[in-house]
Amino acid sequence: MPIYLILIIPFLYAVGWIYWYFRHGKPSSELPKALSFHKITDLPELGGTFNTTYQFESYMKFLKRNGYATGKISELLKDRSGKKVLIFFDDAYENVYLKAFPIMKKFGFTGVLCPIVDYIGRENQWDRGINRFKHMTREMLIEMKEEGFEIISHSSSHRDLRKLTDGELETETAGSKKKLEEILLTEIDYFIYPFGLYDKRVKRAVKNAGYKGAFASYNEKNNRIDRFAIGRNTMYIIDTLFDLKIIIERKPLFLFGHEDQKGRIINWFSRFSGVIKI
Ligand SMILES: [Zn+2]
Repeated sequence: MPIYLILIIPFLYAVGWIYWYFRHGKPSSELPKALSFHKITDLPELGGTFNTTYQFESYMKFLKRNGYATGKISELLKDRSGKKVLIFFDDAYENVYLKAFPIMKKFGFTGVLCPIVDYIGRENQWDRGINRFKHMTREMLIEMKEEGFEIISHSSSHRDLRKLTDGELETETAGSKKKLEEILLTEIDYFIYPFGLYDKRVKRAVKNAGYKGAFASYNEKNNRIDRFAIGRNTMYIIDTLFDLKIIIERKPLFLFGHEDQKGRIINWFSRFSGVIKI
């Protein structure tokens, strides 16, 4: 094999890492620690946005053993002592209720459920592949809320909000908040952008709808906090306990950069799952 072929891979990797460093920056210790999960299931799906029950349990065990605790979003945004973590369940799948909920209870953890209002109790429309996944019902959401889980809005229909008209955008932001509050009889204070995608207009709509903050998939800049685009790290099927350790401790910087960039790349592709609707 010619020598340049052997050298090109580490070269491209190094360029990618340097690009990450200058584009997103060294993480500030002030950034809230937030992990995001999608499906907890032993049935595979094509996007890789799932974790097995065994894997999820081992992550929770790791967090518990290492002294981490969960809490409410508002508490964590104030107290960033380093041993608090937010655990998000994007799209609020039924398997989170069936598989993750008992595990979380066992470890005394709570999390943040992010239902898509029009899909509560229904099957999703965007997963291609062999298995279709159901979303939690209203009753499941209420039961978990009573156990201390927090519920926030993940829009009405999970579309790329940047591409919508002003009216549609209002339905997805203010409309989903109002509907969720009616269904669950609780205040809905935070929002999550579908696919982590937003722009200035989308952010403004979220602020105008009365939310106290919003979450994206990753921080635009790791060295400062944008209350209306707080980043999280998504856990994928390929992530080992070692990956979790690097993500949660955010060190050493070289490995954190690797993890953060890896997640951003996988997340970048997730937007295409919304384009093809079956
Ligand atoms: Zn989502």
